[in-house]
Amino acid sequence: MRNYSTRKRVLITGGAGFLGSHLCERLLAEGNDVLCVDNFFTGTKDNIAHLLPNPSFELIRHDITFPLFVEVDEIYNLACPASPIHYQFDPVQTTKTSVHGAINMLGLAKRIKAKILQASTSEVYGDPKVHPQTEDYWGNVNPIGIRSCYDEGKRCAETLFFDYYRQYQLRIKVARIFNTYGPRMHPSDGRVVSNFIIQALKGEPITIYGDGKQTRSFCYVDDLVDGLVRLMNSPDDFTGPVNLGNPGEFTILELAQKVITLTGSISPIVFNPLPADDPTQRQPNIALARRMLDWAPCVALDEGLPRIIAYFRDSEAKAL
Ligand code: NAD
Ligand code: UDP
Repeated sequence: MRNYSTRKRVLITGGAGFLGSHLCERLLAEGNDVLCVDNFFTGTKDNIAHLLPNPSFELIRHDITFPLFVEVDEIYNLACPASPIHYQFDPVQTTKTSVHGAINMLGLAKRIKAKILQASTSEVYGDPKVHPQTEDYWGNVNPIGIRSCYDEGKRCAETLFFDYYRQYQLRIKVARIFNTYGPRMHPSDGRVVSNFIIQALKGEPITIYGDGKQTRSFCYVDDLVDGLVRLMNSPDDFTGPVNLGNPGEFTILELAQKVITLTGSISPIVFNPLPADDPTQRQPNIALARRMLDWAPCVALDEGLPRIIAYFRDSEAKAL
């Protein structure tokens, strides 16, 4: 626990979302003051309701596409819808959140001399031609497709971070986050892990898009949050970008089969059309995170899936 002189004031944008709420918990548990800023587009008050009585926790409803004036030591910039159905719902707002949001948060960090971390994404690699993906790969991204509002918005945010670093010597950190799962994922955000588990628990068909041979690597939320905190605490001359994700790579068909086995579901598997620009493969090379942050994920998919299945079972039971 930190004392009065070592405790930090930390701003988390998107703090009421899936990853943000876990990060709020972690930083509060370490004895910091946490300021959670969220416009509740995809996040909910339920995710942080248990933190509200904590005097070290503060919540502000705010859209980061507008300027914000607060005094903090560190900023974790997580605000942005992350699932394809959410970020494609209002693509112009998605780009504004990444780009105007980054400009506002970088401007704030510059004014108050705060350290700032950007939650970037493996989507900056697009449909990668290099496998596994290393941070020096520039990516293969369609600039005009239905995923571009997210991919290009995040790429532009990375550009802004590095220009503020070069131009104003801002202390920046850029994490490229690969697919992460765990409790508090939005049950209807359409992401593959939540979709398959909800479908399996309801005995509904498991919807595989395409032939199911596309791959993803799934990181458990606690591992990811630990990586973000280590990155923020790393020496100032380490900016990233750094991949944070679990290198265990699975086809979507393998994931469906695991979910069926672990839930004991009778759901059939059905094959639906593949959405445009859906990446065919994705696996992080985490050598840089291992070396610079002494970080590697601890929770394998077979260990993490039962935890999120239990969470969704419990949520379903409460909803009845
Ligand atoms: P999420 O949708 O659960 O959380 C995003 C949060 O940002 C929500 O609470 C939402 O209400 C808030 N938000 C959106 N637009 C905002 C705005 N303009 N102003 C203020 N708040 C706003 O998603 P998540 O999975 O927790 O993702 C958090 C961050 O991590 C995102 O930036 C996402 O791009 C990044 N990321 C996540 C993953 C993943 O697998 N979860 C992978 C790569 C990158
Ligand atoms: N997917 C699927 N069925 C679903 C939801 C997703 O087959 O019900 C596929 C999707 O086409 C993609 C992969 O699962 O190939 C991961 O999708 P998700 O939206 O979770 O993340 P992203 O594509 O952003 O990595």
